[in-house]
Amino acid sequence: MSAEFSEGKYYCQCVDCERKFNIQELPPKCPLCGSYRWNRKNKLNTETNTPTMEKKILKAAHKALKRRNLTAFFEHGQWWIEHRPSGAQWSVCDASGPSCPDGFDFEQVTQESED
Ligand SMILES: [Zn+2]
Repeated sequence: MSAEFSEGKYYCQCVDCERKFNIQELPPKCPLCGSYRWNRKNKLNTETNTPTMEKKILKAAHKALKRRNLTAFFEHGQWWIEHRPSGAQWSVCDASGPSCPDGFDFEQVTQESED
C-alpha cells in the first residue's frame, strides 16, 4: 500500500488503473495512467489505519470472538485479528445490523493449530 493511502475517511479511485488516492477533491487526471475518470468513495472503517480504529476493532473483536490475547494488525490495506496463542486469524469486515452492534464482522481465515 502506498503512504498516501493510509489515513483519512474518504478516498478516490481511478476507474482505469484502480489506484487509490487519499484525497477528497478529485484530481484533474490520474498521475499514473492519465485517466480522467474517477470514483469518490467513503473509506471503510476496516481500510482506515489509525490507532483509534485499532482500539475500536480490538474492542469489538474481544466482544464478538470471546477470546483474550487478540492482536489487531493492518496489512494488505485492511485490518486483521490474530489470536497469538493459537495462530487463529480473522479478516475484519465493515458490517451493520443487530448482529454487529459495533459495526464490524469477523471472518475466520486461519484455524487454530491443534498442537
Ligand atoms: Zn489511473
